[in-house]
Amino acid sequence: MKNTHNFQKLQCRPSHFPQKLVINYDGVVFLRKDCTIGFTSNAMADIFSKEKRSEIMSRIRGKHTGPELVVRRALFAQGFRFRVHVKELPGKPDIVLPKYNSVVIVDGCFWHGHRKCKLFKMPKTRVTFWRQKIEGNRARDLKNQRKLRTLGWKVIRVWECQLSARRYQKTIERIIEKLQTN
Ligand SMILES: [Zn+2]
Repeated sequence: MKNTHNFQKLQCRPSHFPQKLVINYDGVVFLRKDCTIGFTSNAMADIFSKEKRSEIMSRIRGKHTGPELVVRRALFAQGFRFRVHVKELPGKPDIVLPKYNSVVIVDGCFWHGHRKCKLFKMPKTRVTFWRQKIEGNRARDLKNQRKLRTLGWKVIRVWECQLSARRYQKTIERIIEKLQTN
């Protein structure tokens, strides 16, 4: 099974989803008893109805997704204090540390189109739709980051794949180092 590490903790109960949703093929969507859903995004397009899909995606894409929480917890534990999802700033950055003049943006590899990343694979169905969607997200991300820099913010971008068990420690260290250098 591929990409089984791509888990998202959902605020939901298993009853919200079809029981025993375990589908093993190239695209994988499955729900575990602990309300964690694992998926490869190309599966999403094929397995669920449109309504179900947007319901699931709204949970996953919502404000408090796994990778971002991981970073927030780590920074908080190290004594950093911050605001989250600051509406007044371009792109509503995930983590804003005014004291350090910095924003930390934690992006999912699929939705934000992380290039040369194992977690990003263009879906095989509805190719044009997905390509436009991902390209749109990429363009918007870059625009927002540019705006933030223009406004004098240091932008620290973190990708979901950099928070895997293997890379987590290094990534957090890198963030803190960047925060502390001028
Ligand atoms: Zn990635």
